Amino acid sequence: MLTIGVIAIQGAVSEHVAALEKVSSGLNCKIETIKKKGIVSHCDGLVIPGGESTTISRLLRFEGIDKELLDNEHIPMLGTCAGLIILSSYQDKDVEGLGLMNMQVKRNAFGRQAESFELSLEVTVFDSPFDAIFIRAPAIKQVGNGIDILASVEDYGVAAQQGNKLALAFHPELSDDLRFHKYFLQLLDSSS
Ligand code: GLN
Repeated sequence: MLTIGVIAIQGAVSEHVAALEKVSSGLNCKIETIKKKGIVSHCDGLVIPGGESTTISRLLRFEGIDKELLDNEHIPMLGTCAGLIILSSYQDKDVEGLGLMNMQVKRNAFGRQAESFELSLEVTVFDSPFDAIFIRAPAIKQVGNGIDILASVEDYGVAAQQGNKLALAFHPELSDDLRFHKYFLQLLDSSS
């Protein structure tokens, strides 16, 4: 039995749970939401949803889940939007990125709420474009060793992979296209 944990502190949690339930239906897989410590280490995969990185970062620290994520860095993880910021080495006075992916990111790289947009994105691991929904999205401005950029917008990376970690600047859980969730599930398979 595989367990996928979705960090459920704030943000687009239920949409990720629904997408993961769809892609894992028929497989022996349980989707569990995580609000407290004590669950992370039992998971085979973890999702950090989008929302507000300041709130997510603060509550991860308050609940002690940040340390658990660092202690279990071998687990495959998917971070979307604010979750991408949390996986990165981003630091400001409110947000402490966990540094689990070797990349420098910029918050709100495409502007504030008004700059939400949808884009047909070429993705290196898919054979047709992905309709990506960006909402006050961050972007990847620099990457270190071991990171592959899977998709870009202008000069920024917006999808990246480092081993079994996947970071997306947009919200795949808000579209009907489940290819990124399926791709994440394959990362679990290859890690187990
Ligand atoms: N702008 C948000 C932040 O910096 C992220 C937005 C999102 O996750 N949709 O935390």
